[in-house]
Amino acid sequence: MEDLVVMKFGGSCLKDEKSFSQIQYIVKKYREASKIIIVASALKGITDKLIDFYKKSCKEEPKCDYIIDDIFNIHKNVINQILINEESEFKKAFEFLKKEIGELKQIGGVIKLIRPSIEIQDIIISYGEKLSAFILSQYLKSKNYKAEYISSDEILLTDDNFGRALPLLKETEIMVTDRIIPLLQSELIEIICVTGFYGSTKDKKITTFGRGGSDLTAAILAYCLRNNYNLKVIYWKNVKGFLNADPRIAEKTALLKRISYKEAKELAFFGSKVLHPLCLDVNEKGNIPSEIKFFNEPDSDEFTTITKEIVRDDKIIRAITSIYKLSMVTVESDTMVPLSGTASKIFSLLGNNNVNIVFISQSSSENNITFGIEFEDSMKVSFLLRNSDFFGKKWFKIKIDNDISLVAVIGAGVLHTSGIAGRVFTSLGDSNINIKAIAQGSSELNFTAIIDRKNCDKAINVLYNEFITQK
Ligand code: ASP
Ligand code: MG
Repeated sequence: MEDLVVMKFGGSCLKDEKSFSQIQYIVKKYREASKIIIVASALKGITDKLIDFYKKSCKEEPKCDYIIDDIFNIHKNVINQILINEESEFKKAFEFLKKEIGELKQIGGVIKLIRPSIEIQDIIISYGEKLSAFILSQYLKSKNYKAEYISSDEILLTDDNFGRALPLLKETEIMVTDRIIPLLQSELIEIICVTGFYGSTKDKKITTFGRGGSDLTAAILAYCLRNNYNLKVIYWKNVKGFLNADPRIAEKTALLKRISYKEAKELAFFGSKVLHPLCLDVNEKGNIPSEIKFFNEPDSDEFTTITKEIVRDDKIIRAITSIYKLSMVTVESDTMVPLSGTASKIFSLLGNNNVNIVFISQSSSENNITFGIEFEDSMKVSFLLRNSDFFGKKWFKIKIDNDISLVAVIGAGVLHTSGIAGRVFTSLGDSNINIKAIAQGSSELNFTAIIDRKNCDKAINVLYNEFITQK
C-alpha cells in the first residue's frame, strides 16, 4: 500500500506569511515520501470572531458588519502577504474571499428575520475553514504543488446534533473513498486541502464538531482511507505534544513521548486541550498511528506518538491532570425513599438535554447520587431536575456546588496496581486537602478526587510529587 499522511494545521499555524512558509517547508519534507491530505482550521482567531458576529447579529445590533469587515481584512492581508507575486492564485483567492464575505453579510442580515439557532451559527462559523483551506490550496499551487480544495460538507456526513455533531462513519467512508481515492490516484493531484471542523447532515445542513473540531476531521479522513493507504495522522500544534501535567499549574512537567490511545483519551477527557477528545476514539477504532508535533520545530524528535499499545514501564502513573471548573450535583431523597432506579431517569433526562456527565461518584448510601457536570451546565441542570416530575416525589433535595475541581491520576497502572487510592488519600490528606468525593471517569485508567477549587493547584503538585517525581 502507498503511504499517505493526513496532517492537520491548527489556527495557530495559519496566521501570516511566516506560518504559511512553514507549512510549505513541512509539506516539502513529507511529500518526498507520500501524498498528503491537509486539514485546515480557520485562521487564528477567526472562529471567535464569527461566533461574535453570530451573537451580535441575533441581538439585532445594527452595525455588526464591522466584524465581517475585520474578518475580510485579516484574510486580505494574508493573501497580500503570501500571494503578492502570483497573479492567477492571488486573483482566485481574492475572488473567493469576496464571494464568501458577501454571503456572510447576507446571512447576518437575515438572522434577525428568522429564529436564531445553533443551526445558523454552524453555517456562519464554517466560513472560517472554507476561507483558510481555499487560501492554503492557492498558496500551495503558487509553490507549484498540484493542490486541490475540498469543502468537507461534500464528503463528511454527521448526525444533526448542531454545534457538537458526531460523524456517521459508515456513510462517510463511502463518500470519502469515492471522492478522494480517484483524486489521490490521479497524476494531477498530490495534495488535497480539506476544510476542518464541519460536515453536513443527510439533508445537507452544515454541522460543526465543536471547538477544536478540525482534529476530528483529520481523524475521520484517515479512518475512512485506512484500508487503502498506509496511513498516519500528524496534528501540527503550538505544543510539542501531551505533557504529564498542565504546565500552567504544575511546577514540573515532562513530555509524554509514547502514549496509548486509552491514556491519551483520559488526558483529553480531563481537560488537556491538546486534541479534540473524539478524534482519539476514531484513530483508535481505525488503529491509525498519530503524532502531535510542534509546528515551529518540525524536525525535532520531541513529540508525542499515540498508538494502540499501552506502554508498560515502571512509571505506572503517567500523568496528573485536572478539570479546574466543575459543578457537583447531589440529589438526595428522604431516608425512607431509596433512589435506586431513579439514577437512570436522572441521567437520561440530562443526556437527552445534552448535558455532559463528567463523573459519577460511588456512594454506599442509597439515598443520594452525586455527579459532576460542566460548570456552564449548572443552571440548566438545576432547572431540568427541579422541573422533573420526580422532584418532590422520589427525590427531595438538590444541591449544586459550583466551586469544585477534579484532579485525576492517569495511567495503565491504575488498573494493575493496588494502593493508588490510598496514596491519593494520604498525600492529599497530609497537605490538608479535603476530598469531597472520589470517582472513576470515562474508563478505568484514572483515579479521580473531587476537591474544593481553591485547592486545585496545590493538589496537582502534591500528586505530581507523590506519583511522578518520587518514582
Ligand atoms: N476553527 C475551529 C475552532 O477554532 C476548529 C478548530 O480550530 O479545530 O474551534
Ligand atoms: Mg481554531
